[in-house]
Amino acid sequence: MSGIDTLPPLREVIAAHDLAPRKSLGQNFLLDLNLTAKIARQAGDLSKCDVLEIGPGPGGLTRALLAEGARRVLAIEKDARCLPALEDIAAAAPGRLKVIGGDALAVDPRQHLTPPIRIVANLPYNVGTELLVRWLTPPEWPPFWSSLTLMFQREVAERIVAHPGSKAYGRLALLASWRCDARIVMTLPPGAFTPPPKVSSAVVHLTALPAPRYPADAATLERVIAMAFNQRRKMLRSALKGLRPDIEDVLRAVGIPPTDRAETVTLEKFCALARAIHTG
Ligand code: SAM
Repeated sequence: MSGIDTLPPLREVIAAHDLAPRKSLGQNFLLDLNLTAKIARQAGDLSKCDVLEIGPGPGGLTRALLAEGARRVLAIEKDARCLPALEDIAAAAPGRLKVIGGDALAVDPRQHLTPPIRIVANLPYNVGTELLVRWLTPPEWPPFWSSLTLMFQREVAERIVAHPGSKAYGRLALLASWRCDARIVMTLPPGAFTPPPKVSSAVVHLTALPAPRYPADAATLERVIAMAFNQRRKMLRSALKGLRPDIEDVLRAVGIPPTDRAETVTLEKFCALARAIHTG
């Protein structure tokens, strides 16, 4: 038995450290270690990787990542109440877990990590989308990580993997598919969490492509997509009017009918539009 297997059950850890879940921190804990093991396995072979975990809480997923053989885990947790419980896990896995107390939006983890790096997290709902967008939109590609295995509200997960023409298709799907392969690998009912959230959740696995699927300047593509979907029910000729006075001509030149709406336009066409805007 390894040191991790001898740690007390998570319910005892929560009671001992007085970790009553706080809604303001998006705290819906996973206490079933079979389930956390299953999530950790979705991230693939971790034995040669450093793993970045955001929001370890009482450490259910952290334990699973270590038990599944992660070379090292760096965990960033905002709630200082959780840090003593996480230090107990670090003591049970000597040299393999480093815990940083702080806001994941404010900490740059890269100096603490050695490639290859995988990110695995049951994300706090209030910052999950912002973190994902940051990881998907660095100016240079490939990024510092090779894969993301992330829990989201199911509705958000469906937006990440959506295809053109569907209601869920938009900025997240385009940013994800431009530079990654993304798929939903698990869905979980509210009852899997303590306390149960109002909605179902899903784990999305994203693998970074070596290069973006189509060439485009990242900032221009982001701007075009944001404008197009900001007014998703409008025709593109009016939604994108602010980009250029001759936007109708540019749309036609790249093969997008100016009367189309953003939700029908493919990634390939958005990249062509971003190239025309960037160079034009
Ligand atoms: N990983 C644990 C699990 O699966 O049981 C907890 C997941 S819970 C959904 C989200 C965790 O993120 C909480 O522990 C919360 O305190 C933490 N958190 C919330 N906002 C954060 C932030 N900005 N930076 C780092 N951690 C944060």
